[in-house]
Amino acid sequence: MDTRIVTINPEHIDTKVIEEAGRILKRGGLVAFPTETVYGLGGDALNAESSGKIYAAKGRPSDNPLIVHISDIEQLDKLVCEIPDNAKKLMDAFWPGPMTLIFKKSGLVPDGTTGGLDTVAVRMPNHKAALELIRTSGVAIAAPSANTSGRPSPTTAAHVADDLSGKIDMIIDGSAVGIGIESTIVDVTSEIPMVLRPGYITMEMLEKVVGKVGIDKAITGPVSPDVKPKAPGMKYKHYAPKAELTMFKGELKNVVEHINNLTDKNVKSGIKTGIIACEETKDMYKAGEVLSIGSRNNEDTIAHNLYGVLRKFDDMNVDVIYGETFEDNRLGQAIMNRLLKAAGYHVEKV
Ligand code: AMP
Ligand code: MG
Repeated sequence: MDTRIVTINPEHIDTKVIEEAGRILKRGGLVAFPTETVYGLGGDALNAESSGKIYAAKGRPSDNPLIVHISDIEQLDKLVCEIPDNAKKLMDAFWPGPMTLIFKKSGLVPDGTTGGLDTVAVRMPNHKAALELIRTSGVAIAAPSANTSGRPSPTTAAHVADDLSGKIDMIIDGSAVGIGIESTIVDVTSEIPMVLRPGYITMEMLEKVVGKVGIDKAITGPVSPDVKPKAPGMKYKHYAPKAELTMFKGELKNVVEHINNLTDKNVKSGIKTGIIACEETKDMYKAGEVLSIGSRNNEDTIAHNLYGVLRKFDDMNVDVIYGETFEDNRLGQAIMNRLLKAAGYHVEKV
């Protein structure tokens, strides 16, 4: 299949491009498009055949459900059985935006979109082109991240093309995304809302709106076979660069020294070593391929650069990667969730 890559100016969107993409979606094809979190791979959410194509293009396990994207609150009525009060409050506060809610699904949503679950994940993205595309296509758009399953999520159209060129109909290039990590997933089917995946909307932000919020145990550590994460996607190895990633925690000065020692040995034996540093430490490393992931004083920059840095190490063909760890509160919780999964939870204390 020929994949058309079309560039748009995210501020002045060419309606012809959006109309063409909308037609592709309506007739069951696949279009990758930018959102404020990461690039999504879109298909008609109510067409089981389209959802099937998404799983095939990504190589995604069929029990890992898709998030359905809407542009107007009214679309929700068709997709869900009921809208709990907590959901209304959260939608008021954070939609459009990087928060996905889990509802009991209506009979119209095919099992092929929800991985056989009787719930459905819904989000209204805060991105002009994404909203225009949903409106113009006239369909709710099922859109997981537009990467090959298991690889780091795509934050540029080039990342999407690397993974999916030849497998989908169209890629809309709307330049790099803003946030850089996926939405916060909140299950609102239980009395106390539960975070199933941390994201840009933090626990503190949610609790300000609805009071107590829980967090699914399975996302705070490695998943043993007897624990079943409520977001099925969280059980898979995810976000991973090709080279093995080890994270080091401890006092920052000691971490840098430890990574320098390991890298020094590696260099002598011809092992190409990548280092995930930050703005504050990047000049303290003496050897290796050093990439700054952002500033410890501005976690937004870390979220924004995270996946791009992991993909750059793939391009550089490094043999191993060493990484610093970051505080895991507020947005840091989502950042460390992604980094720890990318490292297969391999963390060493120094
Ligand atoms: P992605 O779109 O690639 O960011 O992945 C979607 C995430 O949403 C995966 O981790 C899924 O397991 C999760 N998800 C989608 N639908 C549901 C649902 N109905 N219940 C729980 N988690 C869901
Ligand atoms: Mg994904």
